[in-house]
Amino acid sequence: MKTINIAIDGPAGAGKSSIAKEVSSELGFIYVDTGALYRTIALYAQMHDLDSDEALISQLDDIDIEINFIGGAQCISLNGENVTDDIRTPEISMGASRVSAIPEVREFLFDLQQKIAREHNVIMDGRDIGTVVLPNADLKIFLTASADERASRRYLELQEKEDCPTYEEIRADIIARDYNDTHRAIAPLKQAEDAILIDSTNMGFHEVCEEILSLIQKKLDLED
Ligand code: C5P
Repeated sequence: MKTINIAIDGPAGAGKSSIAKEVSSELGFIYVDTGALYRTIALYAQMHDLDSDEALISQLDDIDIEINFIGGAQCISLNGENVTDDIRTPEISMGASRVSAIPEVREFLFDLQQKIAREHNVIMDGRDIGTVVLPNADLKIFLTASADERASRRYLELQEKEDCPTYEEIRADIIARDYNDTHRAIAPLKQAEDAILIDSTNMGFHEVCEEILSLIQKKLDLED
C-alpha cells in the first residue's frame, strides 16, 4: 500500500515540530522529527569524546538508533538506551549542526528515514526532507519565520526551565545554525522547488496548523 508522505522543512525554531505534531495527531499520521536523529549522533560523539569527523565516521557502524512511536510521540534509543530527553540541550543542538555536515552521517541516516516513510503515513520534518530524503513527497511545506520571531518563541518556551539561556544567546544560536545549515556542501537547508512557503512570522500556532491541514486535505482529495 502506498503511504502518504508530507515533508516540512525550515530553519531552527520555525515551529516545525509542534505544528507537525499537532497536524499529524489530527490526521492519525506518524510524526518523524529527523533533527532528533542528528542530535542522537551528536550525543554519541559527545559521550565518546569523538572530536574529529574521522573518529566519528569510523564508529558509525557501532551506532544503533531505534525510533519508536508511543501514542504518536517519537521515542529515540541509542544502543538500547532511551535518549529522548538527553538530546535536548544547547550543546547537542550545536553538535547536531556540526555532525549533520558530514556526508557519511547523512548517508547513514538516509535509509532509516526512507524506510519509516515507506512503512507509515508520515509528516516528517527536517532540513532536506523535500529536497533529498522524500523528493516524491505528496506535499512539501517550507515553514519559516524571522530570526527575531523564532528566537522569541524559543525563549518563551524555555523560560520555565532551569538554566534558561538569555534571548540573545538563543538568537545567536539560531543564527549560527541557520548559517551552518544553509551553507554546508551536502543537503543544505533550502526550499524545494515544489514546496509551498509559509512564513509564520505574523501567524499564530493554530492558524499555521489550519493552513497546513487544509493544504493536506486538498492534496488528498485531489489524489482520491
Ligand atoms: O530540527 P533540529 O533543530 O532538532 O535539528 C538539529 C540539527 O540537525 C539542525 O540544526 C541541522 O543541522 C540538523 N538537521 C539536518 N537535517 C535534517 C534535520 C536536522 O541537517 N533533516
